[in-house]
Amino acid sequence: MTDPRRRIPRTDAVLGEPQVVHAVRTLGRPLVKSAVKEAQRRSRDGEIAPEEVVAAVVAGLPERASSLRPVLNATGVLVHTNLGRAPLSAAARDAVLAATGCTDVELDLAEGRRGRRGRGALAALAAAVPEAAAVHLVNNNAAALLLCALALAGGPRREIVVSRGELVEIGDGFRIPELLAGTGAVLREVGTTNRTGVRDYAEAIGPHTAFLLRVHPSNYRVTGFTAAPGLSELAALGPPVVVDTGSGLLAPHPLLPEEPDAATALRDGAALVTASGDKLLGGPQAGLLLGDAELIALLRRHPAARALRVDKLTLAALEATLRGPGTPVATALTADPAVLHERAGRLADRLCAEGVPAAATATEAVVGGGGAPGVTLPSAGVALPARYGPLLRTGTPAVLGRIERNRCLLDLRALAEDQEDTLLTAVLEAHRAHRAREQPGRGEAGKDAPVGETDRRCT
Ligand SMILES: *Cc1c(COP(=O)(O)O)cnc(C)c1O
Repeated sequence: MTDPRRRIPRTDAVLGEPQVVHAVRTLGRPLVKSAVKEAQRRSRDGEIAPEEVVAAVVAGLPERASSLRPVLNATGVLVHTNLGRAPLSAAARDAVLAATGCTDVELDLAEGRRGRRGRGALAALAAAVPEAAAVHLVNNNAAALLLCALALAGGPRREIVVSRGELVEIGDGFRIPELLAGTGAVLREVGTTNRTGVRDYAEAIGPHTAFLLRVHPSNYRVTGFTAAPGLSELAALGPPVVVDTGSGLLAPHPLLPEEPDAATALRDGAALVTASGDKLLGGPQAGLLLGDAELIALLRRHPAARALRVDKLTLAALEATLRGPGTPVATALTADPAVLHERAGRLADRLCAEGVPAAATATEAVVGGGGAPGVTLPSAGVALPARYGPLLRTGTPAVLGRIERNRCLLDLRALAEDQEDTLLTAVLEAHRAHRAREQPGRGEAGKDAPVGETDRRCT
């Protein structure tokens, strides 16, 4: 008897198969080759027959050359940092695609001359906030603050005056005070954690003062015995006030009265406002700078501005976000809870009809991603047994829900309505994967813990 392992096709032979040749063209040789090696290993280990190697290679190929995978956000967190924050609108995605090749990002096609980089996105931002005399764009809000510190507080012993209640850690261990101090600027802390008065700022102002900084506590709340001066009081003190609004609202939002916005801050006397592009604004990662024309010119001309500049894809996405129809984040934020309940009920019914132990349930969603701390948004979703969590997370497409009270909750607020069929398919796939793993003879119904007492249940 010959060893079946001798029949395992050689790498060159597999790479010569038509389907595999096509994959080499779309994915590149190294990715395909590692799929071949893996299939050959499985055959050597006796997991598959040598004749099955080519099929296993095709099945084992990644969908694309990047390892980033689309994820359905069923967490109920509208702006989820670990999921890349704001999902782009269809208009923004389309704009990105159009800009991926060669594009007129720095060229005036009508005149045939060099054009101002990103002028379309800058004009859109200026149009969205008429209160701003000038605007500038950088990589993210952290870069916007960094550029303020470098350009405005770059000299020897130049001071940035900031309240002790606003020394914010953004996330992943990054702290705004450390970011600023890293530029060589001196941070002059005033007041206390809970209370800072206008006098605290006034007493700290001196010949070395570069600017006063106000940072929105975007991921925590200080409540109780608290005080902070109004922005107009600070602006009246003399030095420019830089306001880090964080979440990127350009104008007040009726649902988020506590969240600062660029237009109001500028009207109240802020010299500069900084914000993120990919939080409540609903666009790509970017840092927005709006305000005084002379200060913006200083920022733009600083050598570091070149290191912080945004790429053409960001410019394309941001302009389309600002000019285009409502963003997915805005849609999620303003979703009617009654409609979400209807959607959840329909989805649960469809799942129940397929034998999935699902129940529609009321949930609470949040803005997340450093915006509107403490605000909960009434929402609805589908509750499944907790074991669905990891199955959905590792499926294709991946679905991220949240585990609560030993149930896997799929919150619908952050999920676009046109993603629901995909979600349904993913849950059915997880259901089948679970059934396939179960030993035959053990009933599904008897094993599942109830997904909720007061919820709508499968009948
Ligand atoms: C999110 C946030 C930042 C950081 O913004 P990035 O765009 O992630 O760099 C800075 N300040 C505040 C107040 C924030 O909420």
